[in-house]
Amino acid sequence: MAADKTKTLADWQSKAALLSFETRAFINGEFVAAVDGNTLTSINPATGSVLAEVTSCDAPDAERATQAARATFDSGVWSRCHPSQRKRVLLRLADLVETHRDELALLDTLDMGKPISSSLGDLAGTVACLRYQAECIDKLYGEVAPTGDSALGLVLREPMGVVAAIVPWNFPLMMTSWKIAPALAAGNSVILKPSEKSPLSALRLAHLAQEAGIPDGVFQVLPGYGHTVGKALALSMQVDCLAFTGSTGVGKQLMQYAGQSNLKRVFLECGGKSPNIVFADCQYLDAVAQSAAEAIFHNQGEVCIAGSRLLVENSIREDFVARVVKAAEHMQPGDPLDPDSFMGAMVDEAQYQRVLDYIRQGKSEGATLTLEGEANHSQGYFLSPTIFDDVTPDMRIGREEIFGPVLSVFGFDSEEQAIALANDSDFGLAAGVWSQDIDRIMRVSRRLQSGQVYVNNWAGIDQTVPFGGVKQSGNGRDKSLHAQEKYCEVKTVWMSLSV
Ligand code: NAD
Repeated sequence: MAADKTKTLADWQSKAALLSFETRAFINGEFVAAVDGNTLTSINPATGSVLAEVTSCDAPDAERATQAARATFDSGVWSRCHPSQRKRVLLRLADLVETHRDELALLDTLDMGKPISSSLGDLAGTVACLRYQAECIDKLYGEVAPTGDSALGLVLREPMGVVAAIVPWNFPLMMTSWKIAPALAAGNSVILKPSEKSPLSALRLAHLAQEAGIPDGVFQVLPGYGHTVGKALALSMQVDCLAFTGSTGVGKQLMQYAGQSNLKRVFLECGGKSPNIVFADCQYLDAVAQSAAEAIFHNQGEVCIAGSRLLVENSIREDFVARVVKAAEHMQPGDPLDPDSFMGAMVDEAQYQRVLDYIRQGKSEGATLTLEGEANHSQGYFLSPTIFDDVTPDMRIGREEIFGPVLSVFGFDSEEQAIALANDSDFGLAAGVWSQDIDRIMRVSRRLQSGQVYVNNWAGIDQTVPFGGVKQSGNGRDKSLHAQEKYCEVKTVWMSLSV
C-alpha cells in the first residue's frame, strides 16, 4: 500500500469535511456512553477546533469490559476456536482497514496533527502487521521435549487470557496494531485503551472489527484518561497481561499496579534518547545528513526512536552539522492535510510548551544554538526544527526525551568515546552507526546497549524483525514471531509412559 500521491490538499480537505466520528466506547459488542456520562474533548491541534466530544471511560466501564472479556475468553469462542478461523477473521479485518485507509489516516491526522503522508504510511504498517500476525498463527508449533522414552513432555503455547493494550498518540493506529494483532491472533480477549489525545481511529477500528467477525467481548475499546480507565485496567484482577507503549514514567507506574493487584504480565515499549553515530569514514555525507535530519524531525520529533542524539566524529563535525542544518531548513511544518508537508502540528499545547521549555533549557545550559526553530501558535501548535551543537551528557537536552523537533549534537574523537557516549543513557531503544568499515560496524553494533541498531540507515523496519528496547526503554518485543511470546503462556504437559 504505497503512499497516495494522487490526492491534493483540496481532496483531503473535502474528505475531512465529510467525516463523521464514532465517539462512544465499544463494550461487549455495543457502542455505549460511559456509565457516568463523562466525555473528553478531541481537538485538532493544527487548527485548535473541536472535532468531537468522546466518551471518557472510568473504573465502572473497565469493570464491564473486563467481565465481558473474561467471559468470552472462558467461553472459548475465540480462545479455543481453530487458529485458521482466527486467521480468516483477522485477514478480513486487514482487508477492511485497507479499504478504509483514507478515512482512518485522516482520523489520525486530524486527531493528533501528523502529516497525512505519514498517516498513510502508518496505515500500510497497520495492514501489514495484521496480515503478518494473522498468517503466523496457524504455523507456530509447540514442542516435544527430549525427555527419553519413559515420558512424553509436551510444551504447549496457550493464550494468556485478558490483555489490556494501552497505547500512545504518536502512531495511534500502528501502535494499536502492534499490540492487538499478535494478541488476538494468539486467542486472547483484548481491551484497547487509546490515548485520550487520539481516540478516534481506534473507535472506527471497533466497527471494522465487528464487521470482520471478531466475536462480541473479544475486542473492546475504552477511550479515556490514563489516570482513570487506564489505571483501572492496570489494577484489574481480571486482566492477565498489560501491553503498553508510552512513556517510561507511566511504564514504571504500570509495574507498580501489577504488583498491587494480580502480578499480571507487564510488557513495556517506552521512551528513548537514541544515539545516531557518524564516523568520519562514512561516504555520501549529504545523504547521511539528510537521513540524520529525518531521523529526528520526522513526525515532528514525536517518535520513540527519534535519532535525538547525533554523535559526530570531531574531524568532520563542523562540515557535517552544516549539512544537517541545510537539510533541516527544508523540513518546515505545514498543513497536515497537505500531502507535501513533511512535518505537521505538535499534538497539543502541553507538548508544544514542553518542547519550548527544553529549548530554553538548552540555551541556559550553554549548548550552541545552531538552528533555532520557529514557534507558531497563531492557530495550531507548529514548531520547526531546532539544532543544538556542543551538547554534553550532563545537560538535560542531552539526557531526557524531549519528544519534539530538537536535535542534540555531540562530538567524539575515538570509537571508544563514541560507544561510551552512546551508552551513557537511561534508555536503550535505537541506535545508528554510519561507517564504511565493516569491522568497526560489527564491533560498535555489538557493544551498543540498544534494542535495535541501524547500520547506514535509520529506522529500517519490517514485520519480520522484532522491535523493542532495553534498559528503561522497556522489555518484550513487538512485531515478528517474537511478539507472540508476550501473549502466550508456555505450559508443560508431562506424560509418564510405560516402556
Ligand atoms: P504516556 O505514557 O503519557 O501515555 C501512554 C498511554 O498510557 C496513554 O493511553 C495514557 O492515557 C496511558 N496512561 C497514562 N497514565 C496512565 C496510568 N497512570 N495508568 C494507565 N495508563 C496510563 O505517553 P504518550 O505521551 O501517550 O506517548 C509518548 C511516549 O510514548 C514517549 O515516551 C514515547 O517514546 C513513547 N513511545 C514508545 C514507543 C516504543 O515502541 N518504544 C512507541 C511510541 C511511543
